[in-house]
Amino acid sequence: MTAITRFAPSPTGNLHVGNIRTALHNWFLARKAGGKFMLRIDDTDAERSREEYVEGIRADLAWLGLDFDGEERQSARLGHYEAAFETLKASGRVYRAYETAQELDLKRKVQLGRGLPPIYDRSALRLTEDDHAAKAADGTAPHWRFLLDHDSPIAWDDGVRGPQKFDAASLSDPVIRRADGSWLYMLPSAVDDIEMGITDVLRGEDHVSNTAVQVQMFEALDAAPPRFAHEALLMGKEGKLSKRLGSLGCESFRERGIEPEAIAALLARLGTSQPVEPIADRQALVASFDLGSFGRAPAKFDDADLDRLNTAIVHQMDYAAVKHRLPDGMDEAAWHAVRPNLMVVADAAEWWRIVTGPIDLPEFSDEDRGYLAQAAGVLDFSAGDPWHALTGTLKKTTGRKGKPLFLPLRQALTGMDHGPDMAELLLVLGEETARRRLERAAS
Ligand code: GLU
Repeated sequence: MTAITRFAPSPTGNLHVGNIRTALHNWFLARKAGGKFMLRIDDTDAERSREEYVEGIRADLAWLGLDFDGEERQSARLGHYEAAFETLKASGRVYRAYETAQELDLKRKVQLGRGLPPIYDRSALRLTEDDHAAKAADGTAPHWRFLLDHDSPIAWDDGVRGPQKFDAASLSDPVIRRADGSWLYMLPSAVDDIEMGITDVLRGEDHVSNTAVQVQMFEALDAAPPRFAHEALLMGKEGKLSKRLGSLGCESFRERGIEPEAIAALLARLGTSQPVEPIADRQALVASFDLGSFGRAPAKFDDADLDRLNTAIVHQMDYAAVKHRLPDGMDEAAWHAVRPNLMVVADAAEWWRIVTGPIDLPEFSDEDRGYLAQAAGVLDFSAGDPWHALTGTLKKTTGRKGKPLFLPLRQALTGMDHGPDMAELLLVLGEETARRRLERAAS
């Protein structure tokens, strides 16, 4: 069965790690099924939506490698909502109401005070045509609510949560249109899901009660509801919905040197029964993606996990993938030599600076200087592996071993006490530079 999924961000801010996870999962779902992944910009809130965020969303998806097969924009589809609204009006599934936010708030308080659930009491349904005419004469425009069918049970088999049941009477008839004619989230989303042919709606569990309402909207619009799946929310590692996660986005990941593949590998598996592993191969993540492995408990996001995963992914990255981010002149051999020592790709520049020099040398003892002079004398690149040739010879001629054998050489050649494998690094330095550094350290 194929899948058409969508990612439907509201362009009222930058994507954060929670949205990124939703986007990624919808992309996985579509790619695994050989289906389509659609971007839908939910920009009915004209006041809070901004073009720069729309552009930011596209740029973030591109950086994350989440290609999409089509894009829709709610602000360009207002006529479609109008048409659906007319259908609902004709079938008596919408009604006019006038309560102000304060009045509704007061009603809720009274209900809660009596121990009743704060469900809209439908008093607007009792208004007569004369009442409406009086409001109109007053210049008061109505807002519109969707009339839930209390006799129609709401049920769906959730891809993560299993069978779900809702009693429509336990829900408020949602406001779908404001008095100024603008749309709230609920109806446009259902209309778009129908018209875009969305087969699978995968979103956060904060949308479960919206789904209950939308199931009835699909029916009222004579459409079969898509499959729904609601994933547990992402939490900070302390197990709380964290404010920080709400602002953690691609830009901060990029600045920290986090690779998109690390984000994909972490978010693909976090909160599932599958192990989080440094899988850099996106196709492998697609193949193993399985909604059935998603747990009901909140997924805990830990920065330290991401850093660890990132480092492991950097260690696997091919030269071709990083070439454009490396300093000029840094070639494949140099990348391979330093790669195992990097936390982030940008650190390669520091090692390249050490390769190209100049480097600062530590103070060497007289004895070490003599040793390094010998090293300069026997350095020989004619065989394939000059480092093992050098240390093998020096071991025999000087009797040194372990740290006294290796450390002065490393220090003389790099100015550092630690670093990449010297066998590879020496080849990157080349014979001339290596001999010059040994001689300088010996002098
Ligand atoms: N724009 C909505 C949001 O960002 C979309 C929710 C949905 O996936 O339907 O929450």
